[in-house]
Amino acid sequence: MKQFHDLGLASSILRAVVAEGYETPTPIQATVIPAMLASNDILALAQTGTGKTASFVLPLLDRLGHQRPTAKAKSCGALILAPTRELAEQIAVSIRTYGRFTRHSATVVVGGVKPGPQIRALAKGVDIVVATPGRLLDHLGSGALHLNDTDIAVLDEADQMLDLGFTPAIRKILGHIKGARQTVLLSATMPKAIRRLAKEFLRDPLEISVAPASRTIERINQKAVHVDKPGKRQALIDILGGGDVERAIVFTRTKRGADKVNEYLQEAGLVTDAIHGNKSQGQRRRTLASFRSGKVKVLVATDIAARGIDVDDVSHVVNYELPDMPEAYVHRIGRTARAGKSGIAVSLYDKSEQPLLHGIERLIGRKLEAPSSQIAARSQGDDMTPRKRSHKFADDKPSKRRRSKRHARGKPISARSPSTTPPKNGRGKPARRGRSVDRHATL
Ligand code: AMP
Repeated sequence: MKQFHDLGLASSILRAVVAEGYETPTPIQATVIPAMLASNDILALAQTGTGKTASFVLPLLDRLGHQRPTAKAKSCGALILAPTRELAEQIAVSIRTYGRFTRHSATVVVGGVKPGPQIRALAKGVDIVVATPGRLLDHLGSGALHLNDTDIAVLDEADQMLDLGFTPAIRKILGHIKGARQTVLLSATMPKAIRRLAKEFLRDPLEISVAPASRTIERINQKAVHVDKPGKRQALIDILGGGDVERAIVFTRTKRGADKVNEYLQEAGLVTDAIHGNKSQGQRRRTLASFRSGKVKVLVATDIAARGIDVDDVSHVVNYELPDMPEAYVHRIGRTARAGKSGIAVSLYDKSEQPLLHGIERLIGRKLEAPSSQIAARSQGDDMTPRKRSHKFADDKPSKRRRSKRHARGKPISARSPSTTPPKNGRGKPARRGRSVDRHATL
């Protein structure tokens, strides 16, 4: 098995890897790191949770270290594109973590916040810009940034960017990079559109795949449960009331749906919050921080808002509604079973969603397990009225209103159930992830 020191990384970067407690490179790291250091263009099929961020951040820092000690005004040495603000911010956190012994500057350029601080950060020139495509195009258009000196471009979660309609923006952005650049494209799925994009912008790419195309992560125990529409809410509460639920993400198809489910769960006494595109960036960051810290145990999310969210110890993903695109299923369930853990994904589907379920099963190449009779039995035929029952989280201080609603039915959800211990890094410390980062700051 390859070790980190076999991969050709500089000692300052290896030190950061050791400090993080990583013992051995993950399969994607063992292949992408040497290939990037050898200046190859790369097309990588890599799902979230496989260590893909370090697979491109570590060699990127290494390459910048050798080639570009300081960036010129309004330019950047490397550009990382991500589909969502949250993912961009998380990548920036990783840059800070893995680059703690190097002196690279990085700036996050995302929408939903004032452009002024970003413009000021870019004016000085930065080594790495982590951006969502829309806001980056604004800065390129206004002249706040140019890409004439950019040598490395990474497109993370490229399939998501395409799904979100960013293809024209990506084409324009890559068109701004004039020199001989190294381009790395990572995607959790490999639809034809990704191959077309790769053909257009990658030069003789090395194709790397650490998981069979479009297969979902093996460690996730996946179930689909047939529930009539009116019974879905109670089925959801039953699932979240299980003693093994440590931290859960519930997916809905629409923003309104997310708000409604969130309200319903709160009325039932659960500590939840919703995250979706209608929330301000500040709200989204606060919600994520509460979820990370464990204050909020259940996050109700739409696909877009949840993309790229890397929170350890998400024990359950519940699809309250199936996604329209089967690929989104792979992304959704990838929020659990991170960093070598296992996880549970339960999909609730009604009759109208059966074709969507079949689409997912075709994509992942397997039938989703039969429903657990318990959930199915409890779920069928329930009405839409919230049941007032106890689902107390260990650190949940119930309000008077909630207390009055509590009945002693259902098992309390403990903040840390014995079956799901926190992820440990190589030295037995909890893995360090999810620190917040000032999105404007030059890191
Ligand atoms: P990613 O797929 O980049 O979102 O990473 C998933 C998780 O794996 C993150 O929490 C990382 O901190 C962790 N991780 C990345 N590389 C390693 C490694 N070599 N050993 C242990 N954990 C890792």
